[in-house]
Amino acid sequence: MTDLLFFLLGGLSGIFINRAADNLPAGRAILAPPQCSHCNAPRASIQLSGSLSFVFRRARCAQCGAPLSLRAPLVELGAAVLFFWLATRYPFGIYLALLCFFSAILLLIAVIDLEHKLILNVISLPMTALAFLVSPLLLGGPSATLATLDLKIYWLSFLGIIVGYGVTLGIYYLGALFLRLINRGRAQKINTVAFGMGDVKLAGLLGALVGFPAIIYVLIYAILLGGIGAALVILIRLATRRGYSAYMAIPYGPYLILAGGAFLYFGNELFARLFGA
Ligand SMILES: [Zn+2]
Repeated sequence: MTDLLFFLLGGLSGIFINRAADNLPAGRAILAPPQCSHCNAPRASIQLSGSLSFVFRRARCAQCGAPLSLRAPLVELGAAVLFFWLATRYPFGIYLALLCFFSAILLLIAVIDLEHKLILNVISLPMTALAFLVSPLLLGGPSATLATLDLKIYWLSFLGIIVGYGVTLGIYYLGALFLRLINRGRAQKINTVAFGMGDVKLAGLLGALVGFPAIIYVLIYAILLGGIGAALVILIRLATRRGYSAYMAIPYGPYLILAGGAFLYFGNELFARLFGA
């Protein structure tokens, strides 16, 4: 029963994720009413939910006929399945609520990053502070309660933030130095680097969420996944003869979130198995 409730709750939060993903990059208020991305006409009320508008065949703008993005129903369904799955794994309580909340935030960051190559400070910075604040509950695992709060865990979250920022900043500056070296004497300057500043702040958020030492593994896996993803992109572009630039930027955000999510959901079990804790 709780599982089903969380399925609905996930779908509902998907609606909010979609709205925030439409509004925030456009500089509108986070919950401003949804509008057509082509003609700015306000959306019909059934179109508040992406899935409902596709089910009822209303997935077009009434004014200009532009189709609604498939992203809306996909995010709603994805969040619903994710919340449902989390509810089948963990007992109803504050740990489950926190996992769902931060999953929704990571999903929002991933959607905006995939669509705009942008990780917004207005999301990543306050969420890092919040993740740090609740870290004894989150990193304490599903059995942690307010009564048995272990405040030492704040150190793990704090170290996670420091390592997340530190390692990605280091790679960012190394990349910038590398660019300066290869740009010397080049007419056409190259200006893409491995991690952007948005990725750095996302790594800080993930560090607060999964703590130390898990953040180290998250960064390693994100870089590996990013490398595999980039290789696939290059192979596909070569196969379709579209050519590629050797300095194409890798958008690390989604890979960081994939690796971070894996440790957020499975980290406790993983570490129990590794260290017998
Ligand atoms: Zn329109």
